[in-house]
Amino acid sequence: KLSNRLQQIADLVPKGAKLADIGSDHALLPSYLAERGMIAFAVAGEVNEGPFQAAVKQVREAGLTGRIEVRLGDGLSVLKPEEVDCITIAGMGGALIVSILTAGLDKLAGVRTLVLQPNVGEDTVRRWLLEHGWFLAKEHILEEDGKIYEVLTALRTSEADRANEELYEPRVLRPDLVVDKERLLQMGPYLLDQGSDVFIHKWMLELEKLERICKQLSQSAAEASRAKEDELRRFIRETEEVL
Ligand code: SAM
Repeated sequence: KLSNRLQQIADLVPKGAKLADIGSDHALLPSYLAERGMIAFAVAGEVNEGPFQAAVKQVREAGLTGRIEVRLGDGLSVLKPEEVDCITIAGMGGALIVSILTAGLDKLAGVRTLVLQPNVGEDTVRRWLLEHGWFLAKEHILEEDGKIYEVLTALRTSEADRANEELYEPRVLRPDLVVDKERLLQMGPYLLDQGSDVFIHKWMLELEKLERICKQLSQSAAEASRAKEDELRRFIRETEEVL
């Protein structure tokens, strides 16, 4: 059985996909999908020897050797051109996910679906998708074992740019409250609309963290600290209004 987090990601992989799971660790996600006949095949990529060996062992023991190929290498470099049509990258920081995608731009030809689960830095991932012609089609948020995870699904369509433009169009929540593109990139356009309990909880925790930083900054005499504190306070106030 998968964790709820990996199950959510598995549910988002299109049926019959040719999948690459990058940073696959024990290859649990591709194993789950291959065992149930939900994908055509998978490549499980790992840059580190330990997790690579763990993935090899898992695939062998599950009898999936013919359907999952485990490869050792950095990011998308393990893929051949046009080999897969869906890529999952989960359980790492947004900056690392973005650096993997950027380094492997040539390997994205033929890929139609990206399912990305950054542990932090979701805004970095949304911005990358927007700037590289990927339409953010879905967002999910869930809480498991005291951690909150966001899962972003992006599609490459000929309409991506136009659809994104609509998605990130500033929203007037009240006459005096406009949610701009920056804010939508930060919090997630769908997540903000849904306003689920988990989403609210995530941002309450985030604001508490920022409050603590403000307190520390207020104890410093430096000019730069003052400016930073003001900026954070403004951000906190605006976020509270949006929630
Ligand atoms: N994707 C699994 C999940 O979500 O449960 C495993 C997440 S694990 C915390 C992150 C994995 O990514 C590690 O096994 C690490 O070795 C791998 N990794 C980190 N950077 C990588 C890169 N540039 N290319 C491939 N794998 C990478």
